[in-house]
This record gives sequence, structure tokens and C-alpha cells, in this order.
Amino acid sequence: MTDISPDSLRQRLRTKFVGQNILYYPVTSSTMDVARQAAMEGAAEGTIVIADQQTAGRGRLGRKWLSPPKSSILLSIILYPKLDELPRLNMVACLAVARSIERVTALKPSIKWPNDVLIGGRKVSGILMESDVQGERVNYAIVGLALNVNLDPSSIPEISETATSLKEMLGREVSRPEVLESLLAEFEELYRAMRRGEPIDEEWRRRLETLGKEVTVRCGQDVREGYAESVDQDGNLLLRLPDGSLVTIAAGDVTLKA
Ligand code: ATP
Repeated sequence: MTDISPDSLRQRLRTKFVGQNILYYPVTSSTMDVARQAAMEGAAEGTIVIADQQTAGRGRLGRKWLSPPKSSILLSIILYPKLDELPRLNMVACLAVARSIERVTALKPSIKWPNDVLIGGRKVSGILMESDVQGERVNYAIVGLALNVNLDPSSIPEISETATSLKEMLGREVSRPEVLESLLAEFEELYRAMRRGEPIDEEWRRRLETLGKEVTVRCGQDVREGYAESVDQDGNLLLRLPDGSLVTIAAGDVTLKA
């Protein structure tokens, strides 16, 4: 059974607040848009928006997120972190996805800094952060997670070479409710640990496949080449430049240097 039903999800949930309030849509434009509206109306912390299909799914920088109906987990989580916690949300989200894939399947995901979860070098999940900040105050933050569960990448030319899914890797369908339930539990555990001030960057460092490689990082017009040495406590990349200096990079597109 791979259909997501809010009622059965509610019964099976093992969380205290993440997913305790569920906004479920068979079809919507983007769970991010619905979540933003709900957050502006004061939705409770941990409210989730899930959809079986998006007509305008998006990634970073206005890129498109593609997912045939009922093939994926399409999820946004509404949170109210403090300003200094905001940078760590991306780590929380990526690690929660990686952990839940490991729990439900025997697959071994890795993370490509800053926000892609990969299996066998192909992207299985994309993560997106949006927040509204005024001065020191975070009005809301929304974490978007899309996970290819039963998607067939060969049916989508734009991503057939770069994407994979749990089904493709395992050769069988995987239960979306089971993955979703595990993902919400892992997310809550990591989010609470992060808020208690417990470091989560060690696991981040261990799971990142980007470290120890010569890379090119593009951020807008800024292009830097160097050695991906480590990450800091907020998950930022520490890049060693050819002149020996170390720069901290918060976001960017990473490619391996030829
Ligand atoms: P990239 O993954 O190329 O480094 P990015 O991290 O900015 O870019 P995201 O914002 O996570 O990407 O997602 C958008 C990109 O992901 C799209 O440009 C497309 O290449 C790819 N994509 C879209 N749909 C899927 C999908 N279902 N599975 C895997 N990749 C996808």
C-alpha cells in the first residue's frame, strides 16, 4: 500500500509535534506555497503540508522539481526556529532524509553539499529552505523535502541521467507512508537535538561525499575552485583555495573539478 492517507499517518506517527497537524492535498501547485500561506496565518510549529502531485514543484533558484502523481514524498514542514538556528535546518533536513532511507531500505545514501541526497551518485531527494526574517526575528521557516520513492526516472527525459528513486535502486515498490513516517520521526529527533545545542555536524561531515575532493563552487557570478576540506558547525563548506587561504561558503552549486 503506497497511498498516503492523513488519517492512517496520524495513527502511526511517533512524533510529538512534527506532523501532528497535517494539510494533505491530492494535487496542489507546490507544498511550499501552501505552507507559506499557512505559516503567515500562524500554523502550529511542525505543521506539515503533503501532496500526491504538484503542478509547479520547485527547487532552488526557481528550478523545477518534477514528480509524476503519487510517485514521491512531497513535503513541507513549518517551523519557528531562532535566527541562529536557521542555518542548521538544511543539515537537519538532509540528515533526516538520509537516515530514513537507511532505516526503511538497506540502501546507503550520501549527501552532496549543500542540499542533495544521492544514491549511487544520482539524486534521490532535493531539499529547499525558505524563511521570512525581520531583523532578529524569524517569522517562519519552511523546509521542503522531495523524495523519489516510486518514480521511474527513465520516463522523465530532463532527469533520466541524473536522478534515481528507491524503487529503481531496489527493483520493487516502496511504501510511501512508511518512508514518510520514518522521515518525520528522524526530522523531529534531529531538529530537537539541534535546538538543544547538540552538534549534528559530525554526522553531516561523515555523510558528505563532497569532502576531500577538488571542486568548483558556483554561487551566482562568484566561481571558486579549491579543495573541499571540511564543514563548520552550521554546515557551511570550508574551501581551501590554491593560495592556501580557507573560505567559508554558505550555499552554491558544486561540481567536481575535471
Ligand atoms: P542540482 O541538484 O542540479 O545541484 P539544485 O540543488 O539547485 O541543483 P534543487 O533545487 O534541489 O537543485 O532541485 C532542482 C533540480 O533538481 C532541477 O533543476 C533538476 O535538475 C533536478 N530535479 C528535478 N526533479 C527531480 C527529481 N524528481 N529527482 C531528481 N532531480 C530532480
